[in-house]
Amino acid sequence: MDYLPLAKTGKSKILEQPKTDPAFSPTFEKYDVVISNFGWKAAPWPMETRKSFKAYIQNGGGFVSIHAANNSFPEWEAYNQMIGLGGWGDRTEKDGPYVYYDNVGNKVIDTSEGTAGAHGDRHHFPATVQHIDHPITKGMPKVWMTGVDECYAKLRGTAENMTVLATGKDLSENAPTDRQEPVLMTIEYGKGRIFHSALGHDTDSFENVGFIVSFLRGTEWAASGKVTQAIPLDFPTAQQPRQRTFKLKTH
Ligand SMILES: [Zn+2]
Repeated sequence: MDYLPLAKTGKSKILEQPKTDPAFSPTFEKYDVVISNFGWKAAPWPMETRKSFKAYIQNGGGFVSIHAANNSFPEWEAYNQMIGLGGWGDRTEKDGPYVYYDNVGNKVIDTSEGTAGAHGDRHHFPATVQHIDHPITKGMPKVWMTGVDECYAKLRGTAENMTVLATGKDLSENAPTDRQEPVLMTIEYGKGRIFHSALGHDTDSFENVGFIVSFLRGTEWAASGKVTQAIPLDFPTAQQPRQRTFKLKTH
Protein backbone atom coordinates (compact mmCIF):
# COMPACT_ATOMS: atom_id res chain seq x y z
CA MET A 1 0.00 0.00 0.00
CA ASP A 2 1.53 3.24 -1.08
CA TYR A 3 -1.15 5.83 -1.13
CA LEU A 4 -4.33 6.19 0.87
CA PRO A 5 -6.71 9.07 0.41
CA LEU A 6 -9.61 9.21 2.89
CA ALA A 7 -12.77 10.57 1.35
CA LYS A 8 -15.07 13.01 3.14
CA THR A 9 -17.69 10.27 3.12
CA GLY A 10 -15.48 8.24 5.45
CA LYS A 11 -14.78 5.78 2.67
CA SER A 12 -11.19 5.37 1.63
CA LYS A 13 -9.46 4.38 -1.54
CA ILE A 14 -6.10 2.64 -1.75
CA LEU A 15 -3.96 3.08 -4.82
CA GLU A 16 -0.65 1.41 -5.49
CA GLN A 17 1.94 3.03 -7.65
CA PRO A 18 4.98 0.81 -8.23
CA LYS A 19 6.28 2.89 -11.14
CA THR A 20 5.51 6.28 -12.55
CA ASP A 21 2.10 6.26 -14.11
CA PRO A 22 1.79 9.25 -16.44
CA ALA A 23 -1.98 9.10 -15.95
CA PHE A 24 -1.74 9.20 -12.12
CA SER A 25 -3.71 12.33 -11.41
CA PRO A 26 -6.08 12.07 -8.44
CA THR A 27 -8.39 14.95 -7.64
CA PHE A 28 -6.77 15.70 -4.28
CA GLU A 29 -9.40 18.33 -3.45
CA LYS A 30 -12.00 15.58 -2.99
CA TYR A 31 -10.18 14.47 0.15
CA ASP A 32 -9.63 15.95 3.60
CA VAL A 33 -6.24 14.29 3.96
CA VAL A 34 -3.76 12.28 1.90
CA ILE A 35 -1.71 9.60 3.68
CA SER A 36 1.51 8.24 2.20
CA ASN A 37 3.74 5.40 3.24
CA PHE A 38 5.65 5.50 0.02
CA GLY A 39 9.27 4.54 0.41
CA TRP A 40 12.82 4.69 -0.73
CA LYS A 41 13.15 5.15 -4.51
CA ALA A 42 9.38 5.52 -4.94
CA ALA A 43 8.44 6.28 -8.51
CA PRO A 44 8.28 10.04 -9.05
CA TRP A 45 4.89 11.55 -9.65
CA PRO A 46 4.19 13.24 -12.99
CA MET A 47 4.93 16.98 -12.97
CA GLU A 48 1.26 17.95 -13.30
CA THR A 49 0.38 15.73 -10.35
CA ARG A 50 3.11 17.32 -8.24
CA LYS A 51 1.77 20.75 -9.11
CA SER A 52 -1.78 19.83 -8.22
CA PHE A 53 -0.67 18.23 -4.93
CA LYS A 54 1.33 21.33 -4.01
CA ALA A 55 -1.68 23.53 -4.78
CA TYR A 56 -3.94 21.23 -2.74
CA ILE A 57 -1.70 21.54 0.32
CA GLN A 58 -1.09 25.28 -0.13
CA ASN A 59 -4.85 25.81 -0.23
CA GLY A 60 -5.43 24.02 3.06
CA GLY A 61 -5.20 20.29 2.33
CA GLY A 62 -3.88 17.75 4.79
CA PHE A 63 -0.99 15.35 4.37
CA VAL A 64 0.35 12.55 6.54
CA SER A 65 3.84 11.15 5.88
CA ILE A 66 4.58 7.77 7.46
CA HIS A 67 8.07 6.33 7.96
CA ALA A 68 9.80 5.79 4.58
CA ALA A 69 7.57 8.34 2.86
CA ASN A 70 10.27 10.76 4.05
CA ASN A 71 12.71 8.89 1.78
CA SER A 72 10.66 9.64 -1.32
CA PHE A 73 10.96 12.34 -3.96
CA PRO A 74 14.38 13.78 -2.90
CA GLU A 75 14.50 16.09 -5.92
CA TRP A 76 11.01 17.57 -5.38
CA GLU A 77 11.54 20.89 -3.59
CA ALA A 78 7.96 21.44 -2.44
CA TYR A 79 7.70 17.90 -1.10
CA ASN A 80 10.87 18.37 0.95
CA GLN A 81 9.36 21.56 2.40
CA MET A 82 6.14 19.72 3.24
CA ILE A 83 7.85 16.87 5.11
CA GLY A 84 10.32 19.21 6.84
CA LEU A 85 12.97 16.50 7.23
CA GLY A 86 13.91 13.63 4.99
CA GLY A 87 16.41 10.82 4.65
CA TRP A 88 18.39 8.92 2.02
CA GLY A 89 17.89 9.62 -1.69
CA ASP A 90 21.18 11.55 -1.91
CA ARG A 91 19.96 14.14 0.58
CA THR A 92 22.88 16.08 2.11
CA GLU A 93 23.66 19.50 3.56
CA LYS A 94 22.38 20.97 0.28
CA ASP A 95 18.87 20.02 1.46
CA GLY A 96 19.05 21.65 4.88
CA PRO A 97 20.34 21.05 8.40
CA TYR A 98 20.08 18.06 10.69
CA VAL A 99 17.49 18.75 13.37
CA TYR A 100 17.47 16.89 16.68
CA TYR A 101 17.41 17.32 20.45
CA ASP A 102 20.45 16.73 22.58
CA ASN A 103 20.28 14.44 25.61
CA VAL A 104 19.44 17.28 27.99
CA GLY A 105 16.51 18.57 25.94
CA ASN A 106 17.96 21.35 23.79
CA LYS A 107 16.84 21.58 20.18
CA VAL A 108 19.82 21.55 17.80
CA ILE A 109 19.91 22.82 14.20
CA ASP A 110 23.11 21.32 12.81
CA THR A 111 24.39 22.52 9.42
CA SER A 112 27.40 20.20 9.31
CA GLU A 113 28.03 18.25 6.13
CA GLY A 114 26.89 14.70 5.70
CA THR A 115 24.40 12.25 4.34
CA ALA A 116 20.81 12.04 5.54
CA GLY A 117 19.06 9.04 7.02
CA ALA A 118 20.28 6.14 9.14
CA HIS A 119 18.91 3.65 11.63
CA GLY A 120 20.11 0.88 13.88
CA ASP A 121 18.43 -2.47 14.47
CA ARG A 122 14.69 -2.57 15.07
CA HIS A 123 13.81 -2.52 18.77
CA HIS A 124 11.49 -0.98 21.33
CA PHE A 125 12.81 2.49 22.04
CA PRO A 126 11.61 5.43 24.15
CA ALA A 127 9.76 8.29 22.48
CA THR A 128 9.97 11.57 24.39
CA VAL A 129 7.22 14.15 23.94
CA GLN A 130 8.85 17.56 23.35
CA HIS A 131 5.57 19.49 22.91
CA ILE A 132 2.96 18.30 25.37
CA ASP A 133 0.60 21.20 24.58
CA HIS A 134 -0.04 20.25 20.95
CA PRO A 135 -3.45 18.61 20.26
CA ILE A 136 -1.72 15.52 18.83
CA THR A 137 0.44 14.87 21.92
CA LYS A 138 -1.74 16.39 24.66
CA GLY A 139 -2.25 13.89 27.47
CA MET A 140 0.51 11.53 26.40
CA PRO A 141 3.05 10.57 29.04
CA LYS A 142 6.35 12.45 28.66
CA VAL A 143 8.09 9.21 27.67
CA TRP A 144 6.45 6.18 26.06
CA MET A 145 7.79 3.01 24.50
CA THR A 146 7.41 2.38 20.76
CA GLY A 147 6.80 -0.98 19.08
CA VAL A 148 9.68 -2.89 17.55
CA ASP A 149 10.58 -0.20 15.08
CA GLU A 150 13.41 1.62 13.35
CA CYS A 151 14.47 4.83 15.06
CA TYR A 152 15.25 7.02 12.09
CA ALA A 153 18.29 9.23 12.65
CA LYS A 154 20.22 11.96 10.85
CA LEU A 155 17.18 13.29 9.03
CA ARG A 156 17.77 16.66 7.42
CA GLY A 157 15.72 19.11 5.44
CA THR A 158 14.30 22.60 5.18
CA ALA A 159 12.65 22.25 8.63
CA GLU A 160 10.65 25.43 7.96
CA ASN A 161 7.45 25.99 9.95
CA MET A 162 8.10 22.66 11.63
CA THR A 163 7.34 21.66 15.20
CA VAL A 164 9.04 18.58 16.62
CA LEU A 165 6.36 16.96 18.79
CA ALA A 166 8.35 13.92 19.89
CA THR A 167 11.82 12.45 19.57
CA GLY A 168 13.18 8.92 19.75
CA LYS A 169 16.37 7.61 21.30
CA ASP A 170 17.96 4.65 19.55
CA LEU A 171 19.14 2.21 22.21
CA SER A 172 20.29 -0.53 19.84
CA GLU A 173 23.93 -1.63 19.76
CA ASN A 174 24.45 -0.13 16.33
CA ALA A 175 22.64 3.15 17.00
CA PRO A 176 23.87 5.68 14.44
CA THR A 177 23.65 8.61 16.88
CA ASP A 178 23.56 9.29 20.62
CA ARG A 179 20.85 11.94 20.66
CA GLN A 180 17.09 12.46 20.48
CA GLU A 181 15.93 12.14 16.87
CA PRO A 182 12.62 13.62 15.62
CA VAL A 183 9.91 10.97 15.26
CA LEU A 184 6.67 13.02 15.30
CA MET A 185 6.47 16.42 13.62
CA THR A 186 3.99 18.92 12.27
CA ILE A 187 4.69 21.25 9.39
CA GLU A 188 2.65 24.13 8.06
CA TYR A 189 2.85 24.68 4.32
CA GLY A 190 0.73 27.53 3.01
CA LYS A 191 -2.69 26.93 4.54
CA GLY A 192 -2.03 23.19 4.67
CA ARG A 193 -1.22 20.97 7.63
CA ILE A 194 1.24 18.10 7.53
CA PHE A 195 1.68 15.41 10.17
CA HIS A 196 4.97 13.54 9.77
CA SER A 197 5.63 10.33 11.68
CA ALA A 198 9.02 8.72 11.18
CA LEU A 199 7.66 5.66 13.02
CA GLY A 200 5.99 2.68 11.37
CA HIS A 201 8.40 0.26 9.69
CA ASP A 202 5.99 -2.68 9.62
CA THR A 203 3.16 -4.50 11.35
CA ASP A 204 4.94 -4.89 14.69
CA SER A 205 5.42 -1.15 14.89
CA PHE A 206 1.86 -0.42 13.66
CA GLU A 207 0.45 -2.54 16.49
CA ASN A 208 1.97 -0.25 19.10
CA VAL A 209 -0.74 1.86 20.72
CA GLY A 210 1.53 4.91 20.67
CA PHE A 211 1.85 4.55 16.90
CA ILE A 212 -1.90 3.97 16.48
CA VAL A 213 -2.92 6.94 18.62
CA SER A 214 -0.38 9.38 17.19
CA PHE A 215 -1.32 8.26 13.66
CA LEU A 216 -5.06 8.66 14.24
CA ARG A 217 -4.70 11.96 16.08
CA GLY A 218 -2.17 13.27 13.57
CA THR A 219 -4.41 12.33 10.66
CA GLU A 220 -7.42 14.00 12.28
CA TRP A 221 -5.34 17.11 12.94
CA ALA A 222 -4.01 17.21 9.36
CA ALA A 223 -7.56 16.83 8.04
CA SER A 224 -9.36 19.25 10.35
CA GLY A 225 -6.91 21.16 12.54
CA LYS A 226 -8.52 19.58 15.61
CA VAL A 227 -8.15 16.44 17.67
CA THR A 228 -11.19 14.87 19.33
CA GLN A 229 -9.70 11.49 20.26
CA ALA A 230 -8.79 10.81 23.87
CA ILE A 231 -5.67 8.98 25.00
CA PRO A 232 -6.77 5.37 25.62
CA LEU A 233 -6.08 3.47 28.81
CA ASP A 234 -3.77 1.04 27.03
CA PHE A 235 -1.39 3.80 25.92
CA PRO A 236 2.28 2.77 26.35
CA THR A 237 4.24 3.85 29.39
CA ALA A 238 7.95 4.62 29.72
CA GLN A 239 8.56 0.94 30.45
CA GLN A 240 5.82 -0.90 28.54
CA PRO A 241 5.28 -0.70 24.76
CA ARG A 242 1.62 -1.84 24.88
CA GLN A 243 0.55 -3.51 21.65
CA ARG A 244 -2.80 -4.30 20.00
CA THR A 245 -2.37 -7.40 17.90
CA PHE A 246 -4.03 -7.03 14.52
CA LYS A 247 -6.26 -9.93 13.51
CA LEU A 248 -5.24 -9.70 9.88
CA LYS A 249 -1.52 -10.34 9.57
CA THR A 250 0.27 -9.29 6.41
CA HIS A 251 3.27 -11.48 7.10
ZN1 LIG B 1 11.81 0.95 7.65
